[in-house]
Amino acid sequence: MSDDFHMEISIPADNDGYILLQCPNCGTFFKATPSDIEDDGVLELFCPSCGLVGEDYITEDVLELAMAMAQNKAMDMIHEEFKKMERQFRKGPVTFKAGKRPKHEPENPIRSGIEALEIVSFPCCKRTAKVKPILSMTGCYCPFCGVKNYEVE
Ligand SMILES: [Zn+2]
Ligand SMILES: [Zn+2]
Repeated sequence: MSDDFHMEISIPADNDGYILLQCPNCGTFFKATPSDIEDDGVLELFCPSCGLVGEDYITEDVLELAMAMAQNKAMDMIHEEFKKMERQFRKGPVTFKAGKRPKHEPENPIRSGIEALEIVSFPCCKRTAKVKPILSMTGCYCPFCGVKNYEVE
């Protein structure tokens, strides 16, 4: 088998260029731009709701997609091996049929939904994120430095 097992999952951004994240601690959805998330100055992401640093902010949608893609890829690789065996054994005393390509799990596109989020700007970091409207009223933690902003715009 080739060890070239590489997958890329692109998380679609919404119309404003924000991608959906979910806090692993409290389950709160929020959004940030990939350029902010991947910025070298941003080492950790803080949840705007609970203020904790999460291990990862991958939503269940992304996980499900990753699982489906991995499964499909694995089945394809096995199928390829069978195909090779089929060719190898074509003239021998044993014949081998690979059969049809395996059916794929549906790879559902990730919904970039959860639209009821408002863009707030964090003056501390000069960055923006999208959070639930209630958070922009009660004050929320800056996802990039963890400071609580009481008056965010
Ligand atoms: Zn949280
Ligand atoms: Zn900040």
